[in-house]
Amino acid sequence: MPGKVKTIGDLIRGIKEKARPLRFMEVCGTHTMAIAKYGLRQLLPAEIELLSGPGCPVCVTSQSDIDLALELAGRPGVTLFTFGDMLRVPGASGSLETIRARGANVIICYSALECLQYAVNHPQEEIVFLGVGFETTAPTVAVAIEQALAHKVNNFSVLSFHKRVVPALQALVSGGNTAIDGFLLPGHVSSILGQEPYEFLAREYNKACVITGFTAEDILLGILMLLSQVENKSYRVEIQYKRGVNPEGNPQALAYLAKYFTPVETTWRGLGAIPESGLGLAEAYKDFDAFRRFSLQLGRKEIPTACSCGEILKGLKKPVECVLFAKQCTPLEPVGPCMVSSEGSCAASFYYGR
Ligand code: SF4
Repeated sequence: MPGKVKTIGDLIRGIKEKARPLRFMEVCGTHTMAIAKYGLRQLLPAEIELLSGPGCPVCVTSQSDIDLALELAGRPGVTLFTFGDMLRVPGASGSLETIRARGANVIICYSALECLQYAVNHPQEEIVFLGVGFETTAPTVAVAIEQALAHKVNNFSVLSFHKRVVPALQALVSGGNTAIDGFLLPGHVSSILGQEPYEFLAREYNKACVITGFTAEDILLGILMLLSQVENKSYRVEIQYKRGVNPEGNPQALAYLAKYFTPVETTWRGLGAIPESGLGLAEAYKDFDAFRRFSLQLGRKEIPTACSCGEILKGLKKPVECVLFAKQCTPLEPVGPCMVSSEGSCAASFYYGR
């Protein structure tokens, strides 16, 4: 509704309390893409800067995890399923796309259940689902494991690179990134988590927080609510996206997460290793854990590259500040994951922001 969007934009510009530049981080990749697509930055006054955070699951998957997936996909008898965006994410020695071109069995799917069905139909192969994403996608993987157990499918396993949003936010703010004044929190993840897990951001770090939906109107309203918190020095977690998020989250999905997964240390692109920020498979489901099934070792060395995705995911750089942006790195020939992913900030800037 363009009229309403303009009105909210006018309200934001009308708040004169912006005595200093304000920096708000949108944590979710879907927000990043919507902000660029709707041209929302152009509606904001110069004092308000929007930064992209570590909320694109493909972008935050580390180079070393990709290398692990490459090694597994290269083993005889293994078929690896994953989401389409993961195919071109670079590891140190190539991508799943390059290894597939050399003959590895890598198949794109839309869900873990689709992968499980393939496992049922191909009992002679080892079928691995490479899972990425946050608390929104992990419960669907839990359902696939539940089904595999119920139907005694023993050639199916999960390589879980799933991540938890809250420990990453904790790492961002406790790492001294005081330049962030507030967060547009992810609507989808929050529909699972609810609002309580974010309270520490307001209570301990004086960060304004608004759980926000995905239309232009939602995002601008979220920014208006952030501004109001900053103006009144009244920091808290508010829900703008009330039609999608209950304060207590989704108890059924949380129960699936608690039953099938356990928090583990994992490495994020840009943020490094963060304790309890990953979702590994719980002990009771170790037979479905690809790490154990194939004796995979974590802790591979990250090889430095010229790609600035790590700094972009921490809000320290913008895509256009990367020397490779729109030159050596484009969506057709991406160098880093933020250009590969349909929710990546470099792809958003390339398509809508230049
Ligand atoms: Fe990485 Fe490409 Fe983005 Fe630069 S433009 S940070 S190389 S993805």
